[in-house]
Amino acid sequence: VAEKVVIIGSGPAGWSAAIYAARANLEPIIFEGALSNENQVQLTLPLGQLALRFDVENYPGFPSGFLSAFLDSAIDEERRKYMFRQDEKHSISGPELMELMRQQAKNFGVRVVTDDVVKVNFKLRQLKVKPRDENWLETETVILAPGSKVNSLGLASEETFKNRGVTYCVVSDATLPRFRNQPFVVVGGGDSAMEDALFLTQFASKVFLVHRRDSFRASKTLVERTLASDKVQVMYNQNLHEILGDEDGVSKVKLRNTLDDSITELPTAGVDISIGYVPNTAFLKGQVKMNEEGFIKWKTPFRTHTSVPGVFAAGDAADNYYRQAVTAAGTGCMAALDAERYLAQQN
Ligand code: NAP
Repeated sequence: VAEKVVIIGSGPAGWSAAIYAARANLEPIIFEGALSNENQVQLTLPLGQLALRFDVENYPGFPSGFLSAFLDSAIDEERRKYMFRQDEKHSISGPELMELMRQQAKNFGVRVVTDDVVKVNFKLRQLKVKPRDENWLETETVILAPGSKVNSLGLASEETFKNRGVTYCVVSDATLPRFRNQPFVVVGGGDSAMEDALFLTQFASKVFLVHRRDSFRASKTLVERTLASDKVQVMYNQNLHEILGDEDGVSKVKLRNTLDDSITELPTAGVDISIGYVPNTAFLKGQVKMNEEGFIKWKTPFRTHTSVPGVFAAGDAADNYYRQAVTAAGTGCMAALDAERYLAQQN
């Protein structure tokens, strides 16, 4: 028997789609991704990019406050046990918000599979998806919510020092003792780079924020807060040119000025690369229409229908413009409603 709704991805779009589909009695199954080494290295573990962010201050419904007691009461003990404990009074963190979404879906009976979908076949009348560890699954509709992963600069030295000072996720990597009271370099000019720089001011002796232009893409409030820290020094109009060090890790970086090509050296123990995201859509190549950057195309603006009947797309993988948790959750809801209407028309 074919599934009615298969959801691929476990960020805000995936869980929101799952909650809506379950409440419409469509008995959805969600592939949340595998807990594999490969996903760990690529930072594509279940629960998506938001699970890599610390304070989530802009998701409505979660003002900072006494959230720990709420989390204790809402999340299954089994998973709560493994969650990092914060001070009693705090802003909701990315992992906490994602666990709440997952729990909410489970409460409505959503079947959660901890595996990746590695292939799809949308060419036949019957849609099919292939999990890594299971056989092909037939389904009447698919909601694609695979999200995105961090971008890299593509430097050879970046590869050399990966996990030895080069990081794409300061929350998990930069709190190690060897980075305490050392200088740290952050590359990027968006919200993520600002948040990372601010986070690092708690541990680092100095934070160099390296940006390729002279103005920031990040929101005004975040820029103001970042620039207000006397630990942060902005290096405008600079590209990261090379990362240097030895077996112990990174010791300095070379920057190249975008205006006059001059080279500057900075001492640093770590390099955080925070230059945006690419969609996780390689497994969909040739199956559904995408733009040149690999973002899934919606057939009509504000409708989640893709080029394939019965296949809907939500979240960051279909949105290279807003890319917010709340907009991803919104499009996840839209995709579930679109799938529900599609199924009603078919039957
Ligand atoms: P982003 O907004 O795409 O910014 C990427 C930054 O990296 C840009 O400043 C860009 O420079 C720079 N960059 C890109 N490629 C580069 C390269 N090859 N070399 C040097 N610099 C490069 O990405 P993001 O900051 O990760 O944010 C992603 C989305 O999440 C955004 O929509 C953001 O608003 C959202 N977000 C929101 C929050 C929040 O609201 N609290 C927090 C984190 C993220 P240019 O500016 O020159 O293009």
